[in-house]
Amino acid sequence: MSGRVLLVADLATNRIALKAKLSHACYEVIQAAGGVEAMVAARRESPDVIVMDARMPGIDGIACCAQLGADPATRSVPVVLVAASGDRAAALQGLAAGAEDILHHPIDEAALLARMRNLMREKAMRDELAMRSQTCRALGLAEEAAAPPIPEAAMRVEVICADPRVCQAVRRALAPQLPARIDCLTPRRALESRPEGDAPDLVIAVPSATAGPDLAHMLPDLRSRPATRNAAILALLPDGHTSAAAAAALDLGANACSSADADAEELALRVQGLVRRKRDTDRLRASLADGLRLAVTDPLTGLYNRRYAQHHLNRIAMRAAATGGRYALMLLDVDRFKSVNDRFGHAAGDAVLAEVAGRLRDNLRGIDLLSRHGGEEFLAALPDTTAEEARTAAERMRRIVAETPFQPPGHRPLSVTLSVGVAMGGGDHPASVAEVLRAADRALYESKNAGRNLVCFARAAA
Ligand code: GH3
Ligand code: MG
Ligand code: MG
Repeated sequence: MSGRVLLVADLATNRIALKAKLSHACYEVIQAAGGVEAMVAARRESPDVIVMDARMPGIDGIACCAQLGADPATRSVPVVLVAASGDRAAALQGLAAGAEDILHHPIDEAALLARMRNLMREKAMRDELAMRSQTCRALGLAEEAAAPPIPEAAMRVEVICADPRVCQAVRRALAPQLPARIDCLTPRRALESRPEGDAPDLVIAVPSATAGPDLAHMLPDLRSRPATRNAAILALLPDGHTSAAAAAALDLGANACSSADADAEELALRVQGLVRRKRDTDRLRASLADGLRLAVTDPLTGLYNRRYAQHHLNRIAMRAAATGGRYALMLLDVDRFKSVNDRFGHAAGDAVLAEVAGRLRDNLRGIDLLSRHGGEEFLAALPDTTAEEARTAAERMRRIVAETPFQPPGHRPLSVTLSVGVAMGGGDHPASVAEVLRAADRALYESKNAGRNLVCFARAAA
């Protein structure tokens, strides 16, 4: 996988050694000799990953990491710090400053490259989510409404091991360090389906020396099951594990590895960093889903908006042209709606519109499209429909509104009626969607002229 790495070290010899390893694996490498230079390069060159010495003269890697994390332009770029072996303070300070991981000299090539693959993959996924979400918002334009912020829920951590004593030991070590709910689970229990919303932020996967699955089985399973798919995964490897084992765990889906003999403070810092990033990704995912919804729906009625309907109509027309079938377009406009607003107020008017939308939606088939075409005007598109069926449906919708009075909160009941214009499309001489829509609009105008609360068919198209 190609990717761009910003390599930061004050000593040229360190840079040369690391650059050789990274270039050999086909990464593009940009270099910086200090913290200040690194921050400029991080902004200008948009690296996918930054690998940086923890200790440097001037602004060191730890300070630089904290500053990059505070800048929205560089916040999403993962930073791996490189420290001298045994420099525990650098590891703790680096993790607290937001570093993704700490590598110690001498750097093992397999571990370094596994880390790069893992971070590149995650970065690509986050960038993709962010891009889609921006596209959605650009499409949403006027419909965009500020989504209420999701309250930050308490952190949830699960320790997974076949040996309950190991689970309890990890929990006991972490609990005083971490403001989190920590549960202990067997590997089998962790894979079972759970009620929606009952997903952990992070799982700590611990292979048991005596029983149960090893990491090679646990990690892919955890990554693929709904409950743990989006959780951060920390693999806890046995004391004295090889770097090949850590590399394998990262390739199998772990977000980070730690040693079973790591102290609780370091483990807690890792967990906090992983959960912070996992929640950033959750927010991106939610914002994408939200953006998609906003881009195609009308916030007041929950119906599709005009833009979505236009695309969908083209599809309906294309399918009708391919099969020779017919479809109906209906415009339904609330009669004298201005006077509803005038007499009861705008809020009551809104409530009436939302209920009209709900009644219409409940009286159409699943394959029919209902959208908000304009202020108090709705569009229904009925694929695979004859003129006879369209007339029945239009009458039903007119009646369903006219026959039961509306009761906006705090007001006395009021009666509301609709005028409907229907035009048929498809068949032997298919007109364009725009023409069918214009015909429906003329038919609607006739309904209004003929006294309202009526269904009229477009003569030419029917
Ligand atoms: P007609 O029977 O000829 O359709 O009369 P009308 O009063 O329904 O039509 P007109 O086009 O004169 O007025 C439409 C009104 O709908 C005016 C506008 O304020 C109101 N309206 C449009 N969108 C909304 C909305 O989202 N909420 C509320 N409360 N009113 C809206
Ligand atoms: Mg009207
Ligand atoms: Mg109108």
